[in-house]
Amino acid sequence: MAVPFRRTSKTRKRKRRTHFKLAVPGMVKCPQCGEMKLSHRVCKECGYYKGKEVVND
Ligand SMILES: [Zn+2]
Repeated sequence: MAVPFRRTSKTRKRKRRTHFKLAVPGMVKCPQCGEMKLSHRVCKECGYYKGKEVVND
């Protein structure tokens, strides 16, 4: 099994992790309530999609 020749430096490790994303991609702000929601999906906070379609719960 291959073994790393050099220890990865703090800087190198941190630079690599700048590409780690915090949120799931496809999150957009709901135009209705301003909450973060998945795009192309009904907002779970207000039940709106594309302006007016309502989902009651
Ligand atoms: Zn909403």
